[in-house]
Amino acid sequence: MSADKRMYVGGKWVASSSGERTESDNPATGEVIGTVPRGNVADVAAAVAAARQAFPAWRDTPPDERGRWLLKIAAAIREHADGLGVLLAQESGHYLGKAQGLVEFTTQNVEFHAGLADKARGSTIPTGPGRLAMTRLEPVGVTGHLVPWNYPLFLITRSVAPAIALGNTAVIKPSSLTPLIAVALAEVVDEAGLPAGVFNVVTGIGSEAGAALSEHPDVGNITFTGSIETGQLVMRAAVANMTKLTLELGGKTPVVIFPDVGVEMASEVAMQGVLSRCGQVCIAGTRLIVHDDIYDDVVSRLAERFAQVKLGDTMDPATQMGPLVSQDQRERVEQYVEIGKQEGAELVTGGARPDDPELQNGYFYLPTLFADVSNDMRIAQEEIFGPVLAVIRFSDEDEAVRIANDSDFGLAAAVWCNDTTRAMRVATRLEAGGVFVNEWIGEDFKAPHGGYKLSGIGRENGFECIEQYTEVKHIAVSLLDEKPENWCDAPL
Ligand code: NAD
Repeated sequence: MSADKRMYVGGKWVASSSGERTESDNPATGEVIGTVPRGNVADVAAAVAAARQAFPAWRDTPPDERGRWLLKIAAAIREHADGLGVLLAQESGHYLGKAQGLVEFTTQNVEFHAGLADKARGSTIPTGPGRLAMTRLEPVGVTGHLVPWNYPLFLITRSVAPAIALGNTAVIKPSSLTPLIAVALAEVVDEAGLPAGVFNVVTGIGSEAGAALSEHPDVGNITFTGSIETGQLVMRAAVANMTKLTLELGGKTPVVIFPDVGVEMASEVAMQGVLSRCGQVCIAGTRLIVHDDIYDDVVSRLAERFAQVKLGDTMDPATQMGPLVSQDQRERVEQYVEIGKQEGAELVTGGARPDDPELQNGYFYLPTLFADVSNDMRIAQEEIFGPVLAVIRFSDEDEAVRIANDSDFGLAAAVWCNDTTRAMRVATRLEAGGVFVNEWIGEDFKAPHGGYKLSGIGRENGFECIEQYTEVKHIAVSLLDEKPENWCDAPL
């Protein structure tokens, strides 16, 4: 059944000024499950105006009260968890169990950021006698949030929850592939009773509504999560207004496996790294860098296990891997598989659409394993965003670190090794915003997340995100009863 939704602007449910709409489909079946307004420049302007109007009162709301509003939203999300989980599964392609887990993860993320509301502290600065100098952290104003489709619920709250906790008002532009879950979140926020204009959602196409938000002069900070190419467009647009930017971009995570880890654990690590969410994860472990001693055995074991993965509808409890998000995304994966073959990598398994007749309407693709990959191949250097693993060989620690760091990306990295000294030494040498040692690659909203190199600018999560959503004001106060008599005596 298809749902026709509206956008949420200034606490009201509105159509786009053009009257145009776009469709959202279920990637497992290809069926249209809803439509939303195709927001344009005027709609974005209206949302920014609503957020700007709401800003002074929200900024001046006591911080602990803002925190309590976020807790109220978190409770409302939990209350609607069942419906949100089903919609997330149907619209974004997460299988149901994963989608339900993500709704709870989102709720906890909002709760964590609620606690930031009264913890954005400034400092005092020892500038010498006769003066008291201090810093104060103040909200930037209206914040814009451009969100991708791969974790469309969590990633809205990852940036919006700290932004509004710290006194900003937000305008969200979700991906045009997953607008319904954003509208559903707005329904929950509306029900929680958040003051009008603090949280606004404009649906639409990236090159229209997204571009309009990133170039709007009244937006004080843009948080963009998405591809490098679009991130660069957003960065160019932000230049005109010197808009603060947080860029959370792509990755090509190296996972270094030393031989003492063993073949079974190595294959488990690889499966989790690349097949979770069908490889559509910014931190997906897509480069498996395996020691020579166990390389051949790991490839054989992975070939067996990849072939056994159960693909299926996201609502089927037996499903282990859902579809890619769209036909375009599947074609992108297919192109990279062709590139890998042409580059001379060995296609061990996968490399095709499944032939199961029940999966023909969805955008499914088989788990795909390339061996004999060298790190300069495009399948090892470029983000594919699909269930495609490149297995690369190394023979000593220096070589492993060199291969891992030989990348334009630097979002995450992982090392598995039972020798803790070696594991920690390698962790300090890896060039990435997050390094996971003998641990699944993951994101924890209590710890900072962000990239080195082309993977981005700034940090989300943890206390580190406070910097993205505040301006630092320096206030200097004279403690002297007598002021200098001559203006020429001023030091500068
Ligand atoms: P994308 O770059 O295509 O789109 C991201 C958002 O930008 C969408 O809302 C889109 O509508 C909007 N957009 C598109 N064109 C725009 C324009 N010209 N101006 C302004 N906005 C525009 O990315 P995607 O395909 O939705 O997501 C996949 C990418 O996101 C991958 O590269 C992945 O690695 C990355 N990602 C990064 C993180 C992270 O935390 N670093 C998390 C999730 C996804």
